[in-house]
Amino acid sequence: MVTQVQIIEWLQVFASVIRHHKEELTELDAAIGDADHGINMDRGLKKVSNILPSVEGKDISSIFKTVSMALISSVGGASGPLYGTWFLRASSATAGKQELTATDLSEVLKAGLNGMTERGKAQLGDKTMVDVLSPAVVAFEQAANEGKDTVAALRIAVTAAEQGLQATIPMIAKKGRASYLGDRSIGHQDPGGTSAYWMLRSLFEVLEG
Ligand code: ADP
Ligand code: MG
Ligand code: MG
Repeated sequence: MVTQVQIIEWLQVFASVIRHHKEELTELDAAIGDADHGINMDRGLKKVSNILPSVEGKDISSIFKTVSMALISSVGGASGPLYGTWFLRASSATAGKQELTATDLSEVLKAGLNGMTERGKAQLGDKTMVDVLSPAVVAFEQAANEGKDTVAALRIAVTAAEQGLQATIPMIAKKGRASYLGDRSIGHQDPGGTSAYWMLRSLFEVLEG
């Protein structure tokens, strides 16, 4: 079970990991975008971090809703609405819940990804965060269906996300600013995919304890 307290802890850890990787994310975006992904994400997660004390004790759905609004209103860029949509769908998938089973978490990951792809229209192989989140969702669901507990399933999902992230390096960007570069986007790791990897990795680290 993932508790409401662990969800808040996850989001605080995610915020701190993004703060620590702000320069790295910005450098990745400097290579194929406009050098603001670290700044965008850090601004948004700072706002999330500041707002989290106000949702202590609330159900998971309300927490995700609050996070979504904070991200949409502060991140800007392409990634703001995409992460905002991820958390909005995660909120819808968790109505009234104070804790999540592995199956619930699988639904959250699926709903978040579906929202993101509906919003951004990115397909697998377009060199976006979808290339990181999608293999993780598939791996998590399969592991959960095989009866693995949440931590074990998430460990597998994070490995899949890491492989997905590495796989963005040789891809040609088809969405967002990086797509303006065409072939010149080859050889660079996707910034949004990198922050998405940290999002999942932070959750794993919190649950692993
Ligand atoms: P911007 O490109 O507006 O400056 P950011 O730098 O914050 O926004 O985010 C860039 C990241 O957003 C990319 O690395 C990519 O992963 C992601 N991204 C861009 N467009 C899309 C899309 N249509 N679908 C999914 N992800 C996208
Ligand atoms: Mg950018
Ligand atoms: Mg920008």
